[in-house]
Amino acid sequence: MRGILFRYEALLPLTEATPRLSLCEGQTPLIPLENLGRELSVDLRAKFEGANPTGSFKDRGMVLAVAKAIEGGAKAVVCASTGNTSAAAAAYAARAGIPCFVLLPAGKVARGKLAQALIYGARVVAVRGNFDRALDLAKQASEDLGLAIVNSVNPFRLLGQQSAAWEICDELGEAPDWLAIPVGNAGNISAYWAGFNRYRELGRTATVPAMIGVQAAGAAPLVEGHPVDEPETVATAIRIGRPVNAEKARRAVAESGGQFLAVTDEEILAAQRLLASREGVFAEPASCASVAGLLKLHRAGRLPQGIRIAAVLTGNGLKDPDAALAQVPEPVEIDDSWDSLREVLSR
Ligand SMILES: *Cc1c(COP(=O)(O)O)cnc(C)c1O
Repeated sequence: MRGILFRYEALLPLTEATPRLSLCEGQTPLIPLENLGRELSVDLRAKFEGANPTGSFKDRGMVLAVAKAIEGGAKAVVCASTGNTSAAAAAYAARAGIPCFVLLPAGKVARGKLAQALIYGARVVAVRGNFDRALDLAKQASEDLGLAIVNSVNPFRLLGQQSAAWEICDELGEAPDWLAIPVGNAGNISAYWAGFNRYRELGRTATVPAMIGVQAAGAAPLVEGHPVDEPETVATAIRIGRPVNAEKARRAVAESGGQFLAVTDEEILAAQRLLASREGVFAEPASCASVAGLLKLHRAGRLPQGIRIAAVLTGNGLKDPDAALAQVPEPVEIDDSWDSLREVLSR
């Protein structure tokens, strides 16, 4: 298992001059969610992207983006990020031996992600402004200083991310009926759609899934049909008001016969607890929007029975420990005696 530049070499735009960068990303588990699936009367599987080397799907696109940047002669990379892009950029830049500059919205990044960018050795700058402003500044740094920008405006990111759709089809032997996926900048939903279509064109699958794009209610420009100026949600990875890939995502949903929908923070956190406590799967809040969306459709009687659904869990729950700790009780503290322990255990 050597990563997607090896596994999907023939499907990616690699040349002899492209360095074969790898952290053994991809090949993430497609976990059957048997308990939730039974309740919803569907065949439900989670594509657990938290199992990637930096804990999110961003590794799939970043490995290709950094490899192509180096092939093109870049001496450093830059990105704006709500956290996971910076973790991935910092890791692959470290691996490749080039500097990485990261612009984060000040005070709005989950702690695990900040720790990652810093320990991988990126130069991290906190911008007093939201993600959309940080992205504008990263673009300017790229233009004025000649740094390679590795945000999802970088076309190689989306090409690499197609590999997740290929893996799902390779494992199932066909495409699922639905794909449910959290949507922030809308790159990933666009990449999956392109990936499913690529496989159908190659004759490896006969169908493509309906694309179900789920946004957080406080940051739902694709549901509302207009940009959101002050996006707000506990799901920091999808706190984005002006999705760069909005047009591609709209086309994916329309062409596939899918839909966009919004879920509240309460619904996202409830789905997070449900996934952890009923399935043993811990995903970060943004990831859980996909499952929250399916639960919502089920409650509304709009989830067809018996279909096969792949829900993308985009990032690892450990990325954002504060979001998890805020919704569970503190551990019980006792004296170091058997009497005290017995008393607690028999409650
Ligand atoms: C980046 C990210 C998203 C959003 O993906 P887009 O391509 O921006 O729509 C969702 N969840 C997690 C965990 C992410 O890191």
